[in-house]
Amino acid sequence: MTSVAQNVARFCSELQVEADACARAVPRVIAVTKRQNVDAISEALAAGITDIGENYLQEAREKFEALAPVRKHFIGHLQTNKAKAIVAAFDVVQSVDRVEAGAALSRAAQATRRTLDVLVQINISPAERFGAPPEQAERLAEALRALPGLRLDGLMAIGPVTRDRDEILRAFELAAKTFARIGGSTLSIGMSGDWREAVRVGSTMLRIGTALFGPRV
Ligand SMILES: *Cc1c(COP(=O)(O)O)cnc(C)c1O
Repeated sequence: MTSVAQNVARFCSELQVEADACARAVPRVIAVTKRQNVDAISEALAAGITDIGENYLQEAREKFEALAPVRKHFIGHLQTNKAKAIVAAFDVVQSVDRVEAGAALSRAAQATRRTLDVLVQINISPAERFGAPPEQAERLAEALRALPGLRLDGLMAIGPVTRDRDEILRAFELAAKTFARIGGSTLSIGMSGDWREAVRVGSTMLRIGTALFGPRV
């Protein structure tokens, strides 16, 4: 059994090597904590993790109370009727894939006099149900930029589920190209199984679960 702290240290050193090898800046690592317990998450924070990502509001709220301060990213499917609670619990929403969801977040952020960081989620994988089509990303980004209370900072995408490394690379290249068109400082691509390809195309933020925590329970 390796500890979470050991996994974090090993992952970060592998990441440094990979980033150096392809002459890229080292992306920020978000620990994806869905279905992980508070002890494991606290261990990751003690090991230097500064950001966590959760997919489900209810589960996140139960765990957040017991955690040390950390930047919290919502990475799950966004239901507009949960916008208020999501704004209250999270610092960043990475999964805005339609204007209506952005509008709901905008209203909730304004009501609490906050500015919420958001990312446009685009769909680059046939297996993925959510995310805006890449060709609509610019228009969505423009609409989100016009909404008070939101700060659009870039793009998030989930890579295709495949063993074909070239297919993964091509999908991430499309994400990087789309990111260049919409602007911002965050390109959130790369998970435990495809982070090397993401680093190669210039990811600035990896969302890593199992490589840090082991299999989800
Ligand atoms: C679960 C999840 C991750 C992390 O996946 P791993 O393969 O465990 O690293 C990243 N991003 C999103 C949106 C997820 O749902």
